[in-house]
Amino acid sequence: MGKVMVIGCGGVASVAIHKICQNDGVFTELCIASRTVSKCDALKEKLEGTTKTKITTAQVDADDVEALTALIKKEQPEVVLNLALPYQDLAIMDACLAAGVHYIDTANYEPEDTAKFEYKWQWAYREKYEKAGLTALLGSGFDPGVTSVFSAYALKHYFDEINYIDILDCNAGDHGYPFATNFNPEINIREVSAKGSYWENGHWVETEPMEIKRVYNFPEIGEKDMYLLHHEEIESLALNIPGIRRIRFFMTFGESYLNHLRCLEDVGMTSIEPIMYEGREIVPLQFLKAVLPDPSSLGPRTKGKTNIGCIFIGKKDGQEKRLYIYNTCDHQECYKEVGSQAVAYTTGVPAMIGAMMVMTGAWKKPGIYNMEEFDPDPFMDALNKWGLPWKISEDPELVE
Ligand code: NDP
Repeated sequence: MGKVMVIGCGGVASVAIHKICQNDGVFTELCIASRTVSKCDALKEKLEGTTKTKITTAQVDADDVEALTALIKKEQPEVVLNLALPYQDLAIMDACLAAGVHYIDTANYEPEDTAKFEYKWQWAYREKYEKAGLTALLGSGFDPGVTSVFSAYALKHYFDEINYIDILDCNAGDHGYPFATNFNPEINIREVSAKGSYWENGHWVETEPMEIKRVYNFPEIGEKDMYLLHHEEIESLALNIPGIRRIRFFMTFGESYLNHLRCLEDVGMTSIEPIMYEGREIVPLQFLKAVLPDPSSLGPRTKGKTNIGCIFIGKKDGQEKRLYIYNTCDHQECYKEVGSQAVAYTTGVPAMIGAMMVMTGAWKKPGIYNMEEFDPDPFMDALNKWGLPWKISEDPELVE
């Protein structure tokens, strides 16, 4: 059907690229473009011979809009799948506009010098994408991404109105290290050390980091401690789900992770303020990233499951209704299939599906869209087909 360019070649990209190559009927050509081209070449070498997808590679600094535009114009993909870091989102969106190509990502833009998670910078491109006749699909990972599609699906098939959404992200995997992050350490630590917040009755309620704790009995996993975090899909769901009164996001953390994080914060290692060290400027969090285990090395060591889903409370035919839609994923099964643990897998699969939705035209209209704004049905079918089957529980335990 067409050509996709993937930008970035880290943990999430590796899974998406495996899935693109499995889906060679849709993705007939693939260009892997990243900062370190040797990683792209190694993946190309591993996958060639297993797929009909024709693979090329390229070196690019995605912060350089001119160089990236030139590369996109030369390669002429139908869609660009941005799996670099959130800092690159706007540069890649500019290059896609200049080259006339559709855009998909998995995380909202963050300025490098402030940990801020907001869609305002990307939503500001709406008119430009509309005028150019291009689609930009924002947040096609699991959360955001699948959680947003679950919300649209629940609204379409089960509710007249949804009043409460609790998004639960449980990773019960054990990698055996006292402290490691399951995706890019810098992005992960910025997210979990930021203040928490949730949406209630039309406005944000802010909390201290990890201030709100709950215990939840996850299907197929059991009881886990989880903490309220700010999360980007809350912002768009609050606009796009009519009748919504409250949206919260909870993520599970073990004691060891939290103790280490507290110590690292106390000594200043999670700071994003540059400091002078032996005559040169360094950012403590970037230095910490360099000494922590590379998330892509966790695959062979991680055992256990993830469970990510949404609890909905709303009304159908005048009656109160509750529903939990979720996926469970096994770290070792993911590793056997694509050589990565489940956190990268649960992000990389929906990234491929988002690219497929735009490439095939199932989800394509000029402008900037969050995932819940399209018909959820083809995406939900694709999740079942491509490795992330979902389940529905009609009588879930609720979160206090
Ligand atoms: P990694 O750090 O493993 O990979 C990032 C890749 O981007 C690396 O290959 C890196 O290159 C490349 N890169 C970084 N800067 C540039 C640049 N300027 N130009 C070109 N390439 C660049 O990150 P992850 O795979 O863990 O995460 C990828 C994305 O997925 C992030 O945006 C993250 O926030 C998002 N994510 C979304 C989730 C969701 O559910 N929605 C969940 C988890 C992650 P190099 O190899 O040289 O370092």
